Amino acid sequence: LANQHVAAEDLLVSPLWRAEEAALPSPAEIYGHLHGERRLNSQGMDMTYDTERSPVLAAARLLHVVTPEEMAAEDIEALMHTLHAGQVRWDALPVERRAEILTQAADLLESRRESMLALVMREAHKTLADAVAELREAVDFCRYYAIQAKALMRKEILPGPTGETNSLNLRGRGVFVCISPWNFPLAIFAGQVVAALVTGNSVAAKPAEQTMAIAKAFVELLWEAGVPRDALALMPGAGETVGAALVEHPLAAGVVFTGSSAVARHIHQSLAVKDGPIVPLIAETGGINAMIVDSTALAEQVVDAVIASAFRSAGQRCSALRLLCLQEECADEILTMLTGAMQELVIGPALDYATDVGPVIDAEAQSHLVEQIGRIEQGGGKLLARTAWPTALLERARGGDTSLALTMPDDQQRDLHFIAPCAYTITQVAQVREEVFGPVLQVVTWKAGQIDALIDAINALGFGLTLGVQTRIDGRAAHIAARSRCGNVYVNRNMIGAVVGVQPFGGEGLSGTGPKAGGPHYLLRMVAEQAVSINT
Ligand code: GLU
Repeated sequence: LANQHVAAEDLLVSPLWRAEEAALPSPAEIYGHLHGERRLNSQGMDMTYDTERSPVLAAARLLHVVTPEEMAAEDIEALMHTLHAGQVRWDALPVERRAEILTQAADLLESRRESMLALVMREAHKTLADAVAELREAVDFCRYYAIQAKALMRKEILPGPTGETNSLNLRGRGVFVCISPWNFPLAIFAGQVVAALVTGNSVAAKPAEQTMAIAKAFVELLWEAGVPRDALALMPGAGETVGAALVEHPLAAGVVFTGSSAVARHIHQSLAVKDGPIVPLIAETGGINAMIVDSTALAEQVVDAVIASAFRSAGQRCSALRLLCLQEECADEILTMLTGAMQELVIGPALDYATDVGPVIDAEAQSHLVEQIGRIEQGGGKLLARTAWPTALLERARGGDTSLALTMPDDQQRDLHFIAPCAYTITQVAQVREEVFGPVLQVVTWKAGQIDALIDAINALGFGLTLGVQTRIDGRAAHIAARSRCGNVYVNRNMIGAVVGVQPFGGEGLSGTGPKAGGPHYLLRMVAEQAVSINT
């Protein structure tokens, strides 16, 4: 797919799928393909049949991902000039036309869902459930920003004295540089690019190196939907080279970045000293996200929310739960249940339906996580629970410290890098010194009457992205939300998977600059405003 010229239908036709068109294979026949191994998911459901028959999984297995090459410096230079000229024409279109093109892109995404899902699963190692959520979010971004832009960019007539007409016009700022992460290679990439485009900017898109094929597929889809090539260019390459060249370019009129706080700070510094206009930066970064649980909370609901928030997507979300804060009175019961639930999680390749926790993105992420777990242990963290490796994974292991991490080849002989979900108890909130971007949870207890001190300690970590609250005391959730400095507060539910237009997403402090993605104020940061006063 990434290499193109492969029709989506071709990807979807595995021998089994073809066989199904002729005559559905019986479950017994299908089980025969599985070398006698049955696959159960975390609820104990037998997923064997679906694994073999899913067109998405079949497509993903057949897919050979080809990564675009790093862009050369002279090509960046030439493309920035092309985008600068192209922006004027793109911005001159009525906003309704740009919105229509992006809505068309949403339709195309939906109609090609199987091949896009397959690509996300194959390149970013996402489970099917995560890939589906990601695709839906990308579609939502296209439709939501199209609607928002039409409302926002209407010419506004302002009051004024007799004989004078005043109006406020909004237009694109110029070339926007969009730098996106590997953990939402389709949704966040799409959100950034589409927001900048619909407001009349042209876009230099620099996706994460790990997931450039997904970005390429989406850029080509936008071109097909009608975005001109001189309004949108893919700039593949490393952050240190291509990313830096784009940010420092005098024609860059704005930057959107999602990634680490350290890189956001670096971009901020580069923008401060670069030639050309003074430009805005929208940065969405990480979080040390806590969940506060009091003794009135429903234990089952808490455990369910913790498992989803800390371990889904192998913990590779900025919104993920990192620090569980339990009131002492309920800690034993919840930790016993949590330990049990962690043993039910199934670790495995993303292409396996039964998998709850897939691999982390690459070897570098894996070894960084192993080091961070080491630091938690050295700092006094005590292991509470760790999910056991499935035997099949252990048998295929290529190495690693099998207590923490494991590596195995996938069916295309690339290596998959796993970290076992784990939970550590610590004694104080302040012991958490860094964001751990993986399936690693730290747990602390707090005493009745100390809720404000707890919230203050969480605020003092300096991040402010998501916060979970579990309580049945009226007014307590509102009190916690009011005192907390977090951008997204989730009460009596999990704390991941913000929905576009429903839970605008983004934080403050070390977690980012705002405005919130998928919210009503996002597009405002991307436009230039012009007030025109006419003496009539
Ligand atoms: N929006 C995502 C969520 O709510 C997280 C985005 C991110 O990890 O950058 O889970």
